[in-house]
Amino acid sequence: MQKDNLGICSRCGSDACYENNLGADYKVYMCYGCGFTTNTLMTEDSEFLEEQLEVLPELYKDLVYIDDNGLNWVPSTINVENKGMIFIQGKSAEDWNWVACPAKELTEEEKANFPEDATYKMDMKNASYFKERDFIEAMDYIGMFEVNEQ
Ligand SMILES: [Zn+2]
Repeated sequence: MQKDNLGICSRCGSDACYENNLGADYKVYMCYGCGFTTNTLMTEDSEFLEEQLEVLPELYKDLVYIDDNGLNWVPSTINVENKGMIFIQGKSAEDWNWVACPAKELTEEEKANFPEDATYKMDMKNASYFKERDFIEAMDYIGMFEVNEQ
């Protein structure tokens, strides 16, 4: 992550909000402070937002945060084959956690039970739970900041 692309998060106020400018006024915001994400298309009543929300579980919808610019923030979902997954789990908008589930390389034995091109599985046994503001620790837990050895 480049430092000059970090701004203040309009949801949680942390200074670790990564801004990715994709041109044509399209910007993606991903906050490492609170783990929420939005983009300039996620405005209230937009078709794009509707489509995004449609596929999200209820808990994500309950957690939508609308900032002063009318952008709708939702919890991020991380899914990187050789690192792992981060998603949310909980009972309500007041009672939830990040679940960080590391990926594990399949053993030769296990490979027989997985699709041919699979080399990793999600290691739920080693999943760990993190509080909202510890999103960055969840990222660290599955090794998102490690450089690939290959
Ligand atoms: Zn934030």
